[in-house]
Amino acid sequence: MYNGLIDRLERDCVLTFDEYLTLIEHRDECRDYLAQKAAAVRDRIYGKRVFIRGLIEFSNYCKNNCYYCGIRAENRNLQRYRLTVDEILNCADSGYSLGFRTFVLQGGEDTHYSDEDFCKVITTIKQKYPECAVTLSLGERSFESYKALKEAGADRYLLRHETCNKEHYEKLHPAAMSYANRMRCIDDLKSLGYQVGVGFMVGSPYQTNDDLANEMLFIKQVNPQMVGIGPFIPHRDTPFGDRTAGTAELTTFMLSLIRLTLPNVLLPATTALGTIDPMGREKGIMAGANVLMPNLSPADAKSKYMLYDGKICTGDEAAQCVECLKLRIEKTGCHIVTDRGDYINQR
Ligand code: SAH
Repeated sequence: MYNGLIDRLERDCVLTFDEYLTLIEHRDECRDYLAQKAAAVRDRIYGKRVFIRGLIEFSNYCKNNCYYCGIRAENRNLQRYRLTVDEILNCADSGYSLGFRTFVLQGGEDTHYSDEDFCKVITTIKQKYPECAVTLSLGERSFESYKALKEAGADRYLLRHETCNKEHYEKLHPAAMSYANRMRCIDDLKSLGYQVGVGFMVGSPYQTNDDLANEMLFIKQVNPQMVGIGPFIPHRDTPFGDRTAGTAELTTFMLSLIRLTLPNVLLPATTALGTIDPMGREKGIMAGANVLMPNLSPADAKSKYMLYDGKICTGDEAAQCVECLKLRIEKTGCHIVTDRGDYINQR
């Protein structure tokens, strides 16, 4: 019965809310078939190629106070750091030598940097390495700012919506943040022509199976080029420090559902997935993911960009991470490639 639903999802690339919910609730009975189908769809569109993105976590200063996040402004136990423009560019240089052709600038919402600072980073990377893609993950900004960054040459923007349920959003964030503004940002990014990534945490506090089913309808409607999901993992110095973590099992199931709903989507097996389960990233790839985002930041910065407890690879050099990932991914039957890894539009 579930296999029939999954076959229809593969064919139509969408189900009703009730059908998604049925699969999520009965996932023990259909997980393997779903993962197999999702991996086959990934193979048909992207082959066995797994794209790597060099993540540059340039600052852990943040003006926001998301209840789940370890770098929230009110966390006084965290040593803060920020990289200079030159330090960011050095990370890109070393990443380039390691074969990275996409750089992702991610950080807390740190008002210390101006649009000009970010534009300088983008234009310099683009001048030096015109064949590389620049992805931004700088949080919520104005239309004008997104426009300036796009004009400087940014190609892609990752802004997880975190949850598609407004009431749920308000349980994860203080009143100073709004669901409406997050959605406005996603609309702006799309209208400016960015390749856009949205996403949500799996197993975040108060999330229900209904919410997860609605996430599938939400991403179908937004039709982003990327979807980033990972398990929620508590951080001890946050209001959610004693909450239960999300699981690798549910996260990989959701990865498969996403792959079948948006066959062409770029889908990372995230560091959070590798943190909650030592084989999490491999499991994610086998369930239909096709992107990995190892960290290029200097070792000192890495250990301080602590969104959640226990984050893996914080002591390793980028070169070590790449070697380790190559071996791990080969065991799944896929292999890492070093090109831009753009979204493929046709089926
Ligand atoms: N300031 C940027 C980057 C945020 S960090 C922005 O707002 O987009 C990137 C992602 O990490 C977040 O979008 C969130 O989904 C995830 N994250 C934060 N805290 C987490 C936690 N405790 N467990 C798992 N993922 C977390």
